[in-house]
Amino acid sequence: MGGGPAVTGQVRIVIVGGSFGGLTTAYELRRHLGPERAEITVVAKDERFCFVPSFPWVAMGRRSLEQISFPLAGPLAHKHVAFAQETVTGIDTEKKVVETDAGKHPYDFLVVATGHRSANESVEGLGPFDGPGHSPMSAKETTELAAAIRALLADPGPIVVGAAPGASCIGPVYELAFELDHLLRRRRLRHRVPITLLTPEPFLGHMGMGGAGKIRQLLEGALEERDISYRTSVAITKITAETVETDGASPTPSVLSIVIPPLAGVEAVASSPGLSNPKGFVPVDDHYRHAVADGVYAVGVAVAFPPVGDTPVAVNFPKTGHMTEQMAGIAARDVAARLERREGTTTELSARCVLDMGDRGAYMAVDPVRPPRDEIPTVSEGRRWLYAKQAFERAYLLSARRGRKMPTALGW
Ligand SMILES: Cc1cc2nc3c(=O)[nH]c(=O)nc-3n(C[C@H](O)[C@H](O)[C@H](O)COP(=O)(O)OP(=O)(O)OC[C@H]3O[C@@H](n4cnc5c(N)ncnc54)[C@H](O)[C@@H]3O)c2cc1C
Repeated sequence: MGGGPAVTGQVRIVIVGGSFGGLTTAYELRRHLGPERAEITVVAKDERFCFVPSFPWVAMGRRSLEQISFPLAGPLAHKHVAFAQETVTGIDTEKKVVETDAGKHPYDFLVVATGHRSANESVEGLGPFDGPGHSPMSAKETTELAAAIRALLADPGPIVVGAAPGASCIGPVYELAFELDHLLRRRRLRHRVPITLLTPEPFLGHMGMGGAGKIRQLLEGALEERDISYRTSVAITKITAETVETDGASPTPSVLSIVIPPLAGVEAVASSPGLSNPKGFVPVDDHYRHAVADGVYAVGVAVAFPPVGDTPVAVNFPKTGHMTEQMAGIAARDVAARLERREGTTTELSARCVLDMGDRGAYMAVDPVRPPRDEIPTVSEGRRWLYAKQAFERAYLLSARRGRKMPTALGW
């Protein structure tokens, strides 16, 4: 679609994924386009929306999966959006059809919001279901991690928390280290559990985005204060039941190794001809439109972004929930605009994030995410940020469940 008259009649929009990217895109599209203008269908393999940033709290036993999730069907129906709980097996961008385990969904516009696949094959022992490592990258893996943490409390021993080379989701590494430290102190077990944080980042708080103001100094101080040892520019090479092995150092003893894997695109996207790059991520322009396939958009973790620069050990660009929501808003605006033969407006991505540090929180705001930046990043620490993160989770779930615009301006 380019110039010419506006497109009239009803268009078929299929959104694959029912998480931050998919749900926000559906709500935003419906805000721009009434039911007479667009038939919108969300296809997702999971029947519930899960508030993924709370997975570390589920792992610590502070939340249940039930408390941080809700079924998608009701809120979507309320917005006149169809929901198909199906697993997508392939996407034919020539015929404009999404193929699933239950049938086919033809589309005029498609939004891919399928998130990630954990590339556990990249390091021997990454887990939990491929090796002895643990990671809270999905609801199932988080449930497994919660059981492993309960076992550690019963039988304490050394812990490694880290990220594998090429990881992009680094924030949870810090959160898990701080939260475990806090949990163990409360149980008076911390003296029996050495904690080591191993990160591929060239410095603490790099997070794949080149750092954020004073976050490096804040994290250094906070880890040292809590007796959490750390090493940067570390390439984890193997995880066993008792150790974590790294390049150029002796193995670190660990009976509980929580290591965030590098991510790849999901199989259905990676195996669909002409849709993704070799890692399975979808290349897009700054409207989140596919570089080649007509009518195709991608948002969230499914999108291909280059890293901010070379680092001694690979660290990839982050794709947070907050960034995912911005991408969804831009893509939805662009779809609506293209029906009128216009281009939607777009903006650079910014990020706001609150790290749970156990007894307090650290707030970071960067605009844009990718340096150099006009604004010096805001970094702040205090107990109020922990309360803000808890309040945000509640407000977000309440709004999302009711089909209202989610409060993205608060600290994620
Ligand atoms: C432990 C952890 C903590 C985090 N903390 C924060 C935080 O504090 N703040 C923040 O901003 N971000 C945080 N993030 C990042 C945030 O969770 C992600 O950016 C966000 O979940 C991405 O949303 P998404 O919609 O792109 O993908 P996902 O949330 O991964 O959802 C993917 C969707 O696609 C569906 N799907 C996948 N494959 C198929 C298929 N073949 N067929 C049909 N459906 C399919 C799934 O069912 C799901 O609905 C965290 C991530 C993790 C793992």
